[in-house]
Amino acid sequence: MSELVVTDLHAGVAGRKILKGVSLTVRSGEVHAVMGPNGSGKSTLSHVITGKPGYEVTSGSVTLDGVDLLSLPAWERARAGLFLAMQYPTAVPGVSLEAMLTASAVAGDRDSDSIRAEIHAEAKRIGLAEALISRPLNVDLSGGEKKRNETVQLGVLRPRIAILDEIDSGLDVDAMKAVTSRIEEATNDEEAPLGVLAITHYKRLFEELKPDHVHVFAQGVIQTSGGAELAEELERTGYGEWTSDEEPEESDVAEAFHDPFGEATFADHLKLHESGPTGNIFE
Ligand code: ADP
Ligand code: MG
Repeated sequence: MSELVVTDLHAGVAGRKILKGVSLTVRSGEVHAVMGPNGSGKSTLSHVITGKPGYEVTSGSVTLDGVDLLSLPAWERARAGLFLAMQYPTAVPGVSLEAMLTASAVAGDRDSDSIRAEIHAEAKRIGLAEALISRPLNVDLSGGEKKRNETVQLGVLRPRIAILDEIDSGLDVDAMKAVTSRIEEATNDEEAPLGVLAITHYKRLFEELKPDHVHVFAQGVIQTSGGAELAEELERTGYGEWTSDEEPEESDVAEAFHDPFGEATFADHLKLHESGPTGNIFE
């Protein structure tokens, strides 16, 4: 049995505090839902636990079966049994799903010969087209194909604990059923049941994947927790009770990291064009 333990986690990015004391324990076979408004820090939580570079942890701890994850690079956290299904899966031109999964399996001391058959079996199970197994990872895939792709990875790699960051976004009804029922099956595996931390906005994720605990996440902390009925209630009431009308402090905004490749607003474009005669962001 495995246990992911997050204790009083405080973390931020670019001088901005985002996680303000998160504590949570996910055990094998359990499904924990994290629901909260946009921008509250849910993806940040997933990134900090899995080790995406660029975040600063100021206090608290994250352990998986007693191993201190925060001191490990992302790939070693994965090898320890942690998996992240990304909200926006990264496209990797030149590397196929098959090559990536074979390399991961070998790094995890698994036999590379059996992996190929497993990838095809998992793809078939959740309806990922065969052709996508050998195509470059996530390049030009539809939203639904990307999420099926993430689910094939989960099925093949068999992590102990999986964080699903909006795995339901972009899925049509059939894909939703395929993806969520595959993950629910993994949580019921007799030998090594999967523990899940599922970030979502919608209770429709829980038609197949049954949550044991639902947490309301807002303003960088878990505000309240309950059972599956809390997801129903949230769909009716929204998050108004836990959100604040306050604008971020001026200093927070000024220190925020500007990602020239990130999603820019129209106002950002105007600013860029004012910044130089050509509007070249590298000037
Ligand atoms: P959620 O997933 O709950 O919608 P995120 O964790 O993605 O929220 O973001 C939380 C807040 O942190 C948002 O206000 C977002 O703009 C900010 N944020 C995330 N990444 C960065 C970054 N690299 N630089 C500055 N701010 C960031
Ligand atoms: Mg997010």
